[in-house]
Amino acid sequence: MEYRTLGRTGLRVSAVALGCEGFANKTSEEVRADFDHAIEQGVNFLDLYASAPDLRSAIGAALRGRRERMVIQGHLCSVWEEGQYLRSRDLEKCRAAFDDLIARLGTDYVEIGMIHYVDSDADLSAVLEGPVLQYARQLRAEGRIRHIGLSSHNPTVALRAAESGAIDVLMFSVNPCYDLLPPSDDVETLWSDASYANDLHDIDPERQRLYEFCAREGVGIDVMKAYGGGDLLSDANSPFGRPLTPVQCIEYALTRPAVAAVMVGCRSRAELEAALAWCSATPDERDYARALAGLERFSWEGHCMYCGHCAPCTAGIDIASVNKFYNLTADGAPIPETVREHYRSLAHHASECVACGRCETNCPFGVGIIDHMRRAAQRFGY
Ligand code: SF4
Ligand code: SF4
Repeated sequence: MEYRTLGRTGLRVSAVALGCEGFANKTSEEVRADFDHAIEQGVNFLDLYASAPDLRSAIGAALRGRRERMVIQGHLCSVWEEGQYLRSRDLEKCRAAFDDLIARLGTDYVEIGMIHYVDSDADLSAVLEGPVLQYARQLRAEGRIRHIGLSSHNPTVALRAAESGAIDVLMFSVNPCYDLLPPSDDVETLWSDASYANDLHDIDPERQRLYEFCAREGVGIDVMKAYGGGDLLSDANSPFGRPLTPVQCIEYALTRPAVAAVMVGCRSRAELEAALAWCSATPDERDYARALAGLERFSWEGHCMYCGHCAPCTAGIDIASVNKFYNLTADGAPIPETVREHYRSLAHHASECVACGRCETNCPFGVGIIDHMRRAAQRFGY
């Protein structure tokens, strides 16, 4: 298992993590057995948004005696009403739901208190300026949550939340098909056929800005919907007309800037294994570029996808990393020390490029790499 630092929280989390909604409808014994297996494989991070009491209790039972082995991301504003899940900003309901969460999990605190599902600008204003954020801060002051997070599917809202400085963690929907779409506060657009009816080119700039802002400022991203709700894995439903594997989807998400972990919802042991297969997958198995290159209606021409296909470089440069670090500085603002440090730690730097052009023939997305190396060398000074 690979462990990554979740932004400025400093928490070290497993790159493959558990989205616990997949455990709904399982017995406590089945949930505990899945936890045994996941923990054995090195998983140390889970997300729980569900408010169903039975599910919360089953996860609490699975954690009994080993609470400290999991970093828990528990959601605020996810309540249980009349036998159903409900998203609510009603403070009294949120308080009761959080008290219920930690009681059922058998713990005094969760590492991340995730303000649940904020997709519209108006809702974000209500959260940031109203009692929900105050409550989250109070929980943090009391040590009942250690860090504040927010989950969203809308890059404009997510960026505003990150820029507010109120959150240290963002849970965001990341996969190659959503990345093509412009922002929307209607989550349904992400999986409606109409959204993919026309040609789409390049990562939406607002999404790119979001990832890069979070990377620069230390807002850790953990990922939901890495499989596009399963559509990307299916021949028939993938907007690309060809499926990706779970390993390719996970690799894609993990190579976006600021992303530390992918929360995978696993309904069966086979689905859990398919996600954990990322840990031992070969570069060829992780290679999502194969599935994305040469599509008729969708393209990422000239845009670095951080896929690493351009390797090997004659000068030994890790081109994908140079491009990633350069893109974090391309807004012209002073280079953050963390980015400068990451760049410095590379074994070879952009200035070592001998312009042989070998990488450009290998790049499936037509990136002008020689030019990128030249600009990166100028920006970083070497
Ligand atoms: S330059 Fe091309 S091949 Fe290299 S990481 Fe970027 S997209 Fe992939
Ligand atoms: S052109 Fe530069 S970056 Fe590309 S392989 Fe040659 S030396 Fe490496």
